[in-house]
Amino acid sequence: MTTLTAVDRCDRCAAAAVYRVRKADLLLELDFCGHHFRDNAADLYADGWVVTQSALAAPELEGAPS
Ligand SMILES: [Zn+2]
Repeated sequence: MTTLTAVDRCDRCAAAAVYRVRKADLLLELDFCGHHFRDNAADLYADGWVVTQSALAAPELEGAPS
């Protein structure tokens, strides 16, 4: 599994990807920005996709000054 980094882009737009989702039976991963993840989350979960990585939950981001 590759690691989601700051250079990864959303598969739907040019924004930085903050969520990576995976569907095991397709061996496929998609990256989403927060906006497109929220737009698609219900459909993704209903279709069996799971979140494998979230940049927002990365330890180095917790407590970072905003
Ligand atoms: Zn996007």
